[in-house]
This record gives sequence, C-alpha cells and structure tokens, in this order.
Amino acid sequence: MSDFEKDGRDDDQLNEGKEDTASKISSNDEDENEYEDVCFACRRPESKAGKMFKLPNQICICNDCLHKTMDTVSQFDYQGMLNNPHVMNEIHNIEKNNKTGFPNISFVNLADLQGDGGIPNKQKLKRKKKGAETEPILDIHNIPAPHKIKAQLDDYVVGQEYAKKVISVAVYNHYKRVATDTMDEIEIEKSNMLMIGPTGCGKTYLVRTLARLLDVPLAITDATSLTEAGYIGDDIESVVSKLLAAADNDIEKAEQGIIFIDEIDKIAKKKDTHSRDVSGESVQQGMLKLLEGAEVEVPVGANSKNAMVPLTTVNTRNILFICGGAFPDLEEIIKQRLKKQTAIGFNAELKDKFDKLKNIHNQVTSQDLKKFGMVPEFIGRLPVLFTLDALTEEMLVKILAEPKNAIIKQYQKLLALDEVQLVFNDEALLSIARKAMEKDTGARALRAIIEEFMLDIMYEIPKDENIGRVIITKEYIEGTGGPIIEIRGSQVPQPPIPLVDKRHAAF
Ligand code: ADP
Repeated sequence: MSDFEKDGRDDDQLNEGKEDTASKISSNDEDENEYEDVCFACRRPESKAGKMFKLPNQICICNDCLHKTMDTVSQFDYQGMLNNPHVMNEIHNIEKNNKTGFPNISFVNLADLQGDGGIPNKQKLKRKKKGAETEPILDIHNIPAPHKIKAQLDDYVVGQEYAKKVISVAVYNHYKRVATDTMDEIEIEKSNMLMIGPTGCGKTYLVRTLARLLDVPLAITDATSLTEAGYIGDDIESVVSKLLAAADNDIEKAEQGIIFIDEIDKIAKKKDTHSRDVSGESVQQGMLKLLEGAEVEVPVGANSKNAMVPLTTVNTRNILFICGGAFPDLEEIIKQRLKKQTAIGFNAELKDKFDKLKNIHNQVTSQDLKKFGMVPEFIGRLPVLFTLDALTEEMLVKILAEPKNAIIKQYQKLLALDEVQLVFNDEALLSIARKAMEKDTGARALRAIIEEFMLDIMYEIPKDENIGRVIITKEYIEGTGGPIIEIRGSQVPQPPIPLVDKRHAAF
C-alpha cells in the first residue's frame, strides 16, 4: 500500500471517528441541558450567574469567580496561564458581555494576608554585596590591643578589673583568630567564655559594652527558655536566629558576632529526675556543636522552625559564645571542696575560715561546675572561665556617678535642658548605695531607688522657671528632709521645703 493510500484510508477512518464522537457529544449535551450548570465556587446556577466557563473534570465556573480568581493570582502568573492569549481573550470577552457584580462573596487576597510588603523583611536574607565579599569585617590591624579594649571598658564598667582583663585578652585572641583564619597545623582554639558572678554585678553590661565598642552584632538570650528540639520552648538554634536578626539578616556579619547566653546555670543537670531532662542536660548536649562551630540550619525571623519560616545556614565557627550565670549554690560546693582539702594534714584547724571568705567563687574550678550539674563536654567548650565580684558600697557609689552614661549624668542632662543644675551630695550618693545594698540585687537596685525619689524632682522643678539649682541631700534620700533649691541668679540657698509625705515627697 502506498503512503498516499494509507493516508487516505486513515483520513476516512478519522472522519468516521469524529462523526461518532460528535454525535455522542451532542447526545450528551442534550442530556446535560436538562440540568443547569452550577458554579463550582459560588454555587450559583447558570441562570443567575450567567455563562459558565468549563474546566477539566466537569468543573464549571462562572465568569465572576473566574475573573476574581485571576485577579488574585495575577501576581503569580501560575504556569504561564496569564501569558496564554486564549485564556486572556476568554476573560476579556466574558467581562465585556457581562458586568454583573458578585453579591455576598468576597475573595481572600493572599497578598493582603502578608501585609503591604508581602513577606516581611525580617524573614528575608540580605543580598550579598558584590566585590565586598573578601573584605573582613575586622581587619587584623584594626583589632584594638587588649589594653586598649580594657581602657575603653573602664570608661563604662566600674571595678571588675580581673574580668575586664580576661575578657579583653580573650576577645583580642578570638578576633585575631577570625581575621587570620589560618586553620593549618596550629589551629587556634575558640575562646568561648563562661563568666560567673552574682546578679546585677555587670555581666550583661560588660558584654553589651564590649560588642558596642567592637561594632559587632550581639545577641543576648536567656538559657531558661531553651528546650530540646520538639519540646515547648525555644529551640537551641534560636540563639543563632537572634544573632542573625541583630546583624540585620546579614549572614556574613552574624558569623562574626557575639552570642551571650545568660542564666546558664539554669540548664544544669536536674537532680533526682526520672523523666527526660529536656531543659537541662539535653540543652547542654544540644549546644555542644554550636559552641564548637558547625553549620546550623536556623529559621530566619523566628524562634522555631516551621513550614511558614524560611531557613538558612549559619556557620558558628567564628561566633564568640559568652555564657553567664549566678550559680547560686556554687559557693557551697567550693567551700566543701576546700574544706575537704584542708581537713587532711596540718591545716585541719583552718577549716572554718572559708565560711567568712568573701568572693569565694573566685576559686571555682571545672570540677566544681561539674558537681553543680554542668556536663564536662559543655565546660570543655568554654575554656575561658572567670568570675565577677559582688559589688561593694564604694563600687555602687562609683557606678552612680562615674561611668560615661551614669544614671546621675542622665538626670543631669535631662534637667540641663531646662537650664537647671542637678547636684548630688557625697553623702546622698552613699545613702543611695546603702539602700541598694540592702536589696541584694546589685547595681540593678540603683535605678529603681533613684527613679523613686527623682519623680518628684522631675515633676516639680519644671513648674518654676526661677529654679537654677537642685541639691540632693542625704536627708532627702532618707526621707527626713528635702532637697536644697537655689533660685536662679541668687547665691542664697532656699531653706529646705517641708515634707508633704513621709517618704521623700519634698514639695
Ligand atoms: P547581670 O550581672 O545580672 O547581668 P547587669 O549587667 O544586667 O547584671 O547589670 C544591671 C545594670 O547595672 C547594668 O545595666 C548597669 O547599668 C549596671 N551595672 C552593673 N554592674 C556595673 C558595673 N560594674 N559598672 C557599671 N555599671 C554596672
């Protein structure tokens, strides 16, 4: 059979087939015509909604629904549908012929759900700048020497000389390691730190000041909220997420930042538990790889991984981890160890001298921390261990007045804007420090005390434009007298204003 004949026969057969299907369709149409088509989306019949648009799987959709859907998805151009002239013509024709509104039904616009800007910026990663990739954030020649770092810290942090020295050297070494990036046979170890000190002695403040001076991103988190992945609480990786947020989602910057984990003593191994220790030992185990340096997948702009949050990978190799905690029962453990040591041999009679020792936690060893409930591998990854001293009365007085942004300086600046000079007597400062000591919350108590009695001053002074100087006295702090008010231009101090209420309301 020639090709021609073959083609001819095929055509005939095809035509026969077409006629068959055409007749079937027409009979089907007749059957279907008995029933009105109903819109798949709004459920209105053809008589009400107008001409239906037929989709595969016998789905009918009215022109209104189709049009609104297209509007909604128009941003996405799903599978190139909107570039298909056939579909677009169809929509336009329907629109031209039928302009009826669409009662009682409103469509959800996905873009509205996400706000005006679509995905919020906090969940987007920063684009890498071309050409700037090779430039390190901290050039080795620009890293300040330890004594310079300490001198800068001295301007803000009172006392804690040993801690400032240790932290300056550790930070210097860390950023030298980052800048040289030589991981040959002499690999410089990471100088992660563990700082121990009573509450309010300046642990967080020290780290915060340091990060500001070095101009590196800092994330401060609390270990109490951390739990093993899958349990209620923050995932361990969330600490890296916070750093990423602090670095404006710039991964490169975040990878050279500082993470401060406060209240680290709260993740000590729980004693006498028979259930899984999801917020204690497991968190320590989970943190090991972070501390050492690993590629971790972290959620961007959220604390936990879920389907709605984009993920990214951050390398923690150059992130400096500083852990801090008060370790309340640690002193007892240290005392016991020291007593045990001296109980043997000639020094046995000196046993009770430790009970009177101050700042005994200076003598902490990793053995004591292990006894406290920290896992040896965890302590091993925090090689720089140091302590901060409890604040004394003299230190509190200095904290009030000396640092660059001291609380008193802040109030003085505020009143200076009203052209009023604010002066604190030495005795008044001591009195405030004494009150703070009683509260046993370190320097944190200072602000609360000052704010309490400064309220009246800040309220009353701006009332009278003649006031030129206010002197805060010990009597005013202790509630037995008022502040000394001096009128502008006159050198004669006004007599203390009688007390209105028993506390220190002087006006
Ligand atoms: P913690 O040791 O509990 O982390 P913080 O560092 O949060 O205590 O201290 C609370 C506040 O007390 C700080 O914001 C800071 O203003 C002040 N402060 C504490 N210690 C010092 C210090 N040594 N020098 C100056 N200010 C301090």
